[in-house]
Amino acid sequence: MTQLAQATVTVDLAKITANARTVCDALPGIEIIGVTKVTCGSPQVARAMLAGGVAGIGESRLENIARLRVAGIDAPFWLLRAPTPALAEETVRLADLSLVSAHVTAEALDEAARRLNTRHRILVMVDVGDLREGLLPDELAGFLERVAALAHIDIAGIGTSLTCYGAVVPSQENLGELVELAEGARSHIAAQRDGRSGGERFIVSGGMSSSLELALLGRMPAGVDNLRVGESILLGLSTVTRRPIPGLHTGAIVLDAPVIECGRKPSTPRGEIAQDAFGRRPVFEDRGERWRAICAIGRQDVVPRGIRPVDPGIEVLGASSDHLVLDIEDATSRPAIGEPIRFSPDYSATLRLFTSPYVKVDYVGA
Ligand SMILES: *Cc1c(COP(=O)(O)O)cnc(C)c1O
Repeated sequence: MTQLAQATVTVDLAKITANARTVCDALPGIEIIGVTKVTCGSPQVARAMLAGGVAGIGESRLENIARLRVAGIDAPFWLLRAPTPALAEETVRLADLSLVSAHVTAEALDEAARRLNTRHRILVMVDVGDLREGLLPDELAGFLERVAALAHIDIAGIGTSLTCYGAVVPSQENLGELVELAEGARSHIAAQRDGRSGGERFIVSGGMSSSLELALLGRMPAGVDNLRVGESILLGLSTVTRRPIPGLHTGAIVLDAPVIECGRKPSTPRGEIAQDAFGRRPVFEDRGERWRAICAIGRQDVVPRGIRPVDPGIEVLGASSDHLVLDIEDATSRPAIGEPIRFSPDYSATLRLFTSPYVKVDYVGA
């Protein structure tokens, strides 16, 4: 195999497009917003998702939306993390819609939109149990009433996030509650606006990748007409079970890390054991002398427990900030120095790989 200068992530854009297409086609009546935040707003990934039929791009950081716009991506952009009031003006300039759950933020967006002589759409977030962002259900009506009075804000709909903080699984119960709240909100707003925003669709955004299974099983409560999906399109996994979703590619993102040392060493350290580089006291199993390899990548670039060697005979033993230590005793071949070892990253590893400035990203299949 060829030599590799540095740790490299390879993104197969054709697989991402195919995954987006499969998700969109499987869910008629549900609009999909493709979420690129784990890739730090990669224009190539955004384009691949749009080619697969997603209706817009979701991002949690304005810097990423700015990058995507500069790259010429022409799509509706959703800001998925509520902006701070100080970023209201940038939000109105960059995002077509933002997710909001605090009244002062809505006010700041209204004021910014007034200054810029435009309007801004918000999706009001409701917490149906996961305890990340969102108003509690009984706070929603009062919130909508106050926001409806803001002259430059349009309430585009309501949404929720699940399986983020509280790991709560989307269900017919909690998403049914969202739909009920939306029905109440829709008539409330129509009455208040006296038909001014009449006819426009009132979005009911029923979550993220974790809501896909319910939808794919045909059990999504009627009325949910939008999902914001990142991980399942990129990794092909269910975020409830972390198992592959049938019909989706799981290998769209792979990591290759070059070997910088390879040899036989004892499996237990020699000398008094204190703490490793991260303050933990490591435990070792004595398996005698074993073949080991070190790859040029570390915790600064990746979550060691979040990468699975593609060769099942290789095991990740641990990592410091810049060295990844592997047991390769049962590997199918002994790598030469400079040759890469391939890994499949999970979401947390993918997040760090794209965030590390030391990891190269290659795109194939465009
Ligand atoms: C990250 C995020 C998403 C996408 O989540 P996935 O699990 O990657 O599908 C959707 N909505 C919000 C508000 C988010 O923060």
